[in-house]
Amino acid sequence: MALQSRSPQRPDDLVVEVEEAAAGAVAAAVERARAAGRRWAAASALERSAALVAAADALAGAADEVTDLAVREVGKPLTEAAAETGRGVGILRYYAQQALDPDGEIYPGPSPAALLLSRRRPRGVAGLVTPWNFPVAIPLWKAAPALAFGNAVTLKPSPEATAVALRLAELLGPALPEDLLQVLPGGAETGTAMLEAVDCISFTGSVAVGHQVAVAATERGIPIQAEMGGLNAAIVLPDADPERVAGVVAGAAMGYAGQKCTATSRAIVVGDPRPFTEALVAAVEGLAVGDPAEEATVVGPVITEPARRRVVEAAEEAAAGGGRLLTGGAAGDGAGWFVAPTVVDGLGPDARLAQEEVFGPIAVVLAVADEDEAVRVANGVRYGLVGSVFTRDLDRALGLAARLDTGLIRVNAPTSGVDYLAPFGGEKDSSFGPREQGKAARDFYTSTRTITILPAEA
Ligand code: NAD
Repeated sequence: MALQSRSPQRPDDLVVEVEEAAAGAVAAAVERARAAGRRWAAASALERSAALVAAADALAGAADEVTDLAVREVGKPLTEAAAETGRGVGILRYYAQQALDPDGEIYPGPSPAALLLSRRRPRGVAGLVTPWNFPVAIPLWKAAPALAFGNAVTLKPSPEATAVALRLAELLGPALPEDLLQVLPGGAETGTAMLEAVDCISFTGSVAVGHQVAVAATERGIPIQAEMGGLNAAIVLPDADPERVAGVVAGAAMGYAGQKCTATSRAIVVGDPRPFTEALVAAVEGLAVGDPAEEATVVGPVITEPARRRVVEAAEEAAAGGGRLLTGGAAGDGAGWFVAPTVVDGLGPDARLAQEEVFGPIAVVLAVADEDEAVRVANGVRYGLVGSVFTRDLDRALGLAARLDTGLIRVNAPTSGVDYLAPFGGEKDSSFGPREQGKAARDFYTSTRTITILPAEA
């Protein structure tokens, strides 16, 4: 079956059309990857590191072209897309370095002459299933550590990000042995076929699919990590500067049309919400909405027509349920899948908008009386990816942060933004399995073998 990926800002722009990888082709690709992976695992760490450096150089050399393709295919505003490509280069360089780290530990053995060691070994073929919203960074933050630690990779990208994935593989391919990194275009069927064949699975996407993938992996008894949705809260304390915080929250909620797992969906305001809410509406209305290829654009289109409908329907449902639409709520004119950045208040914390991820440029302001209520509301959802706290009082920030059920805590910083040097992941329905990125990635892409060596003659 042919798969088409179209530009969200100009849906008549067909970015790529390719055949989906059918089950037989997927199985054959994974077998080729496995053979390439065995040779790769036997290569020296220096060789693997050098290959990743060459891959980073290849991406850096084509950075503008990859950025433009990402802008065109997924509608990411140019400035953010360029930063993401740069991040991809950084990720490859970082894991090139990690390939040279010690690959195990030494423990006290049964006698002074004996050795008791633990060493890391690759798992085989890492199957990566990725979403469309970070078409460069997410495939690379999975592939780079997988390759650095001696695995082969098969990547099943989101259909909406097929062109970027194929281009990445073309660029990185010459730096790597043949068949070591393969892209398998397709949707759920291709993904399911890949899950049946690989040796571990790293997934990023929605909660519903992530849970299915986790069940499939568990049935096969292979390691799985899944990074899923978020419904991230920014808690604003009364001592925070409402104007400054509103600017930060507006960007975190609406940048890239809110299509980040780390976007702010809920602003929880302690005390009088009016100064912050007014400043937020002004800041949101000041954001540049438009063609993502323009350097000034902050809010481009959402990815598809159904995605746009979901945002408009969420706004309508909020209004019908007693919420106030403070700004936005309507689809944009013109051909692309634009929707006006939308802010709602007047809803309770149990309203659907305050409970479920919409994945678009829509946020809700929730007023609370005190910090205890802020924590209850922030934690009262099934997600637990990022929480942020805005205050000048470090004691209160630390006290609040310690009570949030999220994998990432950010003080006076937007919920959005990921540092690839540090572990990344959430709690509750936002994540399943071990953390990604930073030094944590090695735990997933390797298993540990314990080795005992005794002197031949006691
Ligand atoms: P999605 O769940 O629809 O798709 C993710 C991937 O899974 C795609 O490649 C898709 O083709 C594939 N897939 C779908 N059904 C499958 C199946 N049955 N078996 C195997 N693979 C299958 O998500 P999306 O719309 O591409 O991305 C948006 C979601 O991703 C949001 O929920 C967002 O919060 C989440 N996300 C999370 C993170 C994170 O790190 N926590 C980062 C980015 C995006």
